[in-house]
Order: sequence, then structure tokens, then C-alpha cells
Amino acid sequence: MKPAPFAYHRPGTIEEAVSLLAELGEEAKILAGGQSLVPMLSMRLAFFDHLIDISRLGELQGIEHRGDQLWIGAGTTEAKVGGDDRVREAVPLLTRVTPYVGHFQIRNRGTLGGSIAHADAAGEYPAVALTLDAVMEVLSPRGRREIAAADFFAGLWETTMEPDEVLTGVRFPQWNGRSGFAVHEFARRHGDYAIAGSVVAVELDDNDRVSRCAIGLLGLGSTPKRATAAEESVIGKPGSEVAPEEIGRAAMTGLDDIPTDLQGSAGYRARVGAAMTARAWTHAVNEATVGAIYA
Ligand SMILES: Cc1cc2nc3c(=O)[nH]c(=O)nc-3n(C[C@H](O)[C@H](O)[C@H](O)COP(=O)(O)OP(=O)(O)OC[C@H]3O[C@@H](n4cnc5c(N)ncnc54)[C@H](O)[C@@H]3O)c2cc1C
Repeated sequence: MKPAPFAYHRPGTIEEAVSLLAELGEEAKILAGGQSLVPMLSMRLAFFDHLIDISRLGELQGIEHRGDQLWIGAGTTEAKVGGDDRVREAVPLLTRVTPYVGHFQIRNRGTLGGSIAHADAAGEYPAVALTLDAVMEVLSPRGRREIAAADFFAGLWETTMEPDEVLTGVRFPQWNGRSGFAVHEFARRHGDYAIAGSVVAVELDDNDRVSRCAIGLLGLGSTPKRATAAEESVIGKPGSEVAPEEIGRAAMTGLDDIPTDLQGSAGYRARVGAAMTARAWTHAVNEATVGAIYA
């Protein structure tokens, strides 16, 4: 199928893009890599009279250290994020989840900002942003503001950005201690959105006790989730003595909107989620204990 007709706009600056979006109102939509929006238009699941293409705006591209955080421009492609050495050093979880984001053709066009703004509950970057307490930078005719990841994801494909706001960049905090990071997810075919998955970041103190832990879940609700009870339950314990199955089970407690669909029931997803969390936990703790285990 083909999309319904629309007018195509390619502003030269982000300020122009924002004023155009404000002027055209709800008939307009931002177009980044087009890897989620264009299929929706083509299948006629969405209709917009105007598309505002931000994919070539230089201000939205780039990866740089800003204090103890790594800033990534919203328009940076998923392929660039996945292949960048600064990302690998500072935010290894982003590097490790990237191969799970669709296929390389999609990652060559799809953008970090598009993925986060699209807010798919099974998306890898939204889950990493939530897990690491990233900060979203947005721009509107009213100026710039920041939104904490914990306040950003509002529902299925829904964020707390206003309709006239554009995501310009995301800042990811770095974990500098004895840390380990891992992702595990299950999808029926490589490149599909995960049925359920888990990303784990863990930090150990000098006595190998857990001093910090963050667990993010994907595909297990209408938004990405944090397994806060499971995170709190391991603080102060020796990492190697936490039973992976136990933390997997704990991570599934309190999830009240796990979807049931053709891919599987809520109960099945929870079982997969528990297994993925157990595996990610094991790998993350191993890495924190003995040093980097992934390239
Ligand atoms: C076959 C297939 C498999 C896929 N599998 C996965 C997967 O496993 N995991 C995964 O995470 N993703 C997957 N994707 C989606 C892919 O990651 C997309 O690239 C991403 O979700 C959207 O990024 P984009 O730059 O293409 O955004 P677009 O498609 O251009 O836009 C998506 C939405 O975000 C809005 N938007 C985009 N950029 C901004 C911005 N800067 N500010 C405000 N709003 C903005 C748009 O208006 C639109 O509503 C898959 C896609 C396909 C086609």
C-alpha cells in the first residue's frame, strides 16, 4: 500500500522545524529515519497532511562527552550509535542493544531520537534510556526543556512531549565504577521486536557487594519498565550470591499491564521476561566481577 498524499517539508534549521510544526499543528508530523512512521503511513494506520523531515539537520547529529554524561543527537542513526567507540566506552548498554534493533538496513536510517520519541514498549533504546536515567532534551517555540526518562514514557507509543516539541538530544549518564552491563531478549526471528527482554546494569563495591543496580524491561507493559523492587532487593548483597532465577522472578512482580497478543499471553511473556532477566543479571555480574567480557 502507499501512504495518503502529504506535503513534504525540509527545514534548514531545528528552529525552523519547530516553528513549522507549531504553525501546521496536528496535521503535521516530524519525520526522522522514517523506519516506524513510513510503514504506519503506508499501511494507512496513520495520516498526516505534512511531514517535516529533520533527518539532515546537522544540529541533531553527533556524539560527545558533556561532563560525566554522553550526549547523542536525536538524529544520529542507530548504526552510528552501534559502531561508535565513545558510546562503547561510556554507555556499553547502547552498543550491546543496537544489534537487536531491527535489521542493519533499518539501523542505517533509523535514529536514536526517532526510536525514543516513537516510544515502543518493546524498543531497546527506550528501555536503555529508562534504565540509565537518561535525560531527554526537547525544543518548542517556548524554548528548551529537559525531561527525565522516568517522566518521559507515558503509554504505548506515547510520551510526555507536547505535540509541538521536538527531541533534540539525549544525555546518558556514565557508570564509572566496577560495572557490568548486559541485555538478553527473546524474539521469534532476529530483527523482530522482542516478545520480552531485559537490560541490566550493576556496580560492585570493593567487597564484591552490589552498590548500584538498574534493571529495565521491554515488551512487558505499555511502556518500558524499571524493576525497582528487584533492584532494591540486591543492594548490599554479594553479587555472586544472588540467585539469577530469584532476581528474574522478583523483576516480574508488580507488572500490571503485560500485553497478551498473537505473540503470546501475559503469563508467557512474564516467564520469558524472568528468564531474560536471570541471564542478563548473570552476565552483568560476571562482567562487573572479572572485567569486560564483551568486545
Ligand atoms: C521491520 C522493522 C523492525 C524493527 N525492529 C525494531 C526492534 O526490534 N527494536 C526497535 O527498537 N525498533 C525496531 N524498529 C523501529 C526502528 O528502530 C525505527 O528506526 C525507530 O523506531 C524510529 O526511528 P526513526 O528515526 O526511523 O523515526 P521515524 O519513523 O521517522 O519516526 C517515528 C516517530 O517518532 C517521531 N519522531 C522521530 N524523531 C523525532 C524527534 N527528534 N522529535 C520528536 N518526534 C520524533 C515521529 O514523528 C514519529 O512519530 C523496527 C522497524 C522495522 C521497519
